[in-house]
Amino acid sequence: PVVTRFAPSPTGSLHIGSLRTALYNYLLARRTHGKFILRLEDTDRTRLVPGAEENIYETLQWCGLAFDEGPVKQSERMAVYAKYIQVLLDKGLAYRCFCSKEKLTASRLDGYDRHCLHLSPEEIAQKLRENDGQCIVRFKAPDHYAPFTDLLHGEVNIQERRDRAGHDDPVLLKSDGMPTYHFANVVDDHLMGVTHVVRGEEWLPSTPKHLALYAAFGWAPPQYVHIPLLTSVGTDKKLSKRRNDASVLALQQQGILPEALVNFCALLGWAPPRDVAQQNHECFSLKELETLFSLDHLTRGNVKVDNSKLHFFNKHFLQKRIENPKQLEELVEQIVPDVAAKFALVDCPSLHDKVRHILQDCGHGLTTANEFTAAFGYFFAAPDYAQLSPDAQKLLSGAGRDQVLAVLKELGPDISAATVHDRINAVTEQLGIKKRIVFQSLRLAVAGDVSGAKIDLVLGILGSSEASRRVAAAIT
Ligand code: GLU
Repeated sequence: PVVTRFAPSPTGSLHIGSLRTALYNYLLARRTHGKFILRLEDTDRTRLVPGAEENIYETLQWCGLAFDEGPVKQSERMAVYAKYIQVLLDKGLAYRCFCSKEKLTASRLDGYDRHCLHLSPEEIAQKLRENDGQCIVRFKAPDHYAPFTDLLHGEVNIQERRDRAGHDDPVLLKSDGMPTYHFANVVDDHLMGVTHVVRGEEWLPSTPKHLALYAAFGWAPPQYVHIPLLTSVGTDKKLSKRRNDASVLALQQQGILPEALVNFCALLGWAPPRDVAQQNHECFSLKELETLFSLDHLTRGNVKVDNSKLHFFNKHFLQKRIENPKQLEELVEQIVPDVAAKFALVDCPSLHDKVRHILQDCGHGLTTANEFTAAFGYFFAAPDYAQLSPDAQKLLSGAGRDQVLAVLKELGPDISAATVHDRINAVTEQLGIKKRIVFQSLRLAVAGDVSGAKIDLVLGILGSSEASRRVAAAIT
């Protein structure tokens, strides 16, 4: 059975690139009824960031990516790494190194001479005594790294850049006793039975080193799949972790929904099968992705991250939430406090009803729920007419005033959302008034903008007496 893992280092808040890696590993496991493991690669103590570990758990949970095993923390597995270091030392495929930083820097210039590989057991014992038992352990790397097969890229041949003497023996165990990424990663993937490693292309150059370690142990390596780099739209540069719009936490704070983010990340390097794509279908729930995903449909080139697509998905999934009674209530609960604070209103049942009504009738115009108060403020307070553009002011002070008032009078107090549009049409025709002027003036007076939610829907929520009051106040 397929076993995959997500192996983040808790060095900062999760980034959409990492989330995509987690998602693909999760989907591959689900699709094949395999196992998905979460493993924290936290042995580089200098790079740990407080809160990063919690952020990983919270983000995965928020997105619905449940793991079957873990979290396994590498920092708690020191005994395991010590055991396997000894295996390589015993095989003569790893060696203790006591060289000072200064000596190493100097030897880099002359070509690394594997000085410590040639120490006798007595010399090693003596140096250990001198150094309080401290040393680093290096891998006796092969002279050439073999080409290997990546499931996405096919045969890959990467020769590590070598020093002049032809050696660059990677460190496996650091002087603080912690394993390096390469060592712990290989030992754990093997011990956890990982069959497929899906990870970012930035790890491609490390893979020959990992495979050489598998060979040294005599273990069968997993399959590797290196997924394309994410680049920023416009600049074509690698998406920066520091850029805020790539941080999951920042997107969450902007009102991006997990369903939208999952859908967005799924398509950053994967495309649905042709028959699905042909139905012009690009909105997928996690459940759907679990049945559709496969490694055959991964893409190879760099992927541009276009947040307008994310906003498109968010709009779609926000509408779905509005249509779901339970989720609609959650949205109402989330929005009401903002509205109450911004417009100095009392949080009461009728405010909940009003927010719910606005979401149901006009919510399809929102990209995120965070936009609610800015987009629909006019439902809670009359627009500030002094702030309207000169063109808009002209419209309101011109011939429109009497016409709009006449139309409203004709409509009467009972403005139902279902019929108001037809009735405005009929009344303007009956009175011989230009429809466009009436509609635009009405929108401006009521909502402070000529575009936005349909006027019939707006009037239906606001009620005709408030609408008439606004028209009277606005049209001078
Ligand atoms: N700890 C590595 C990272 O943070 C994992 C790379 C891998 O999947 O092998 O990306």
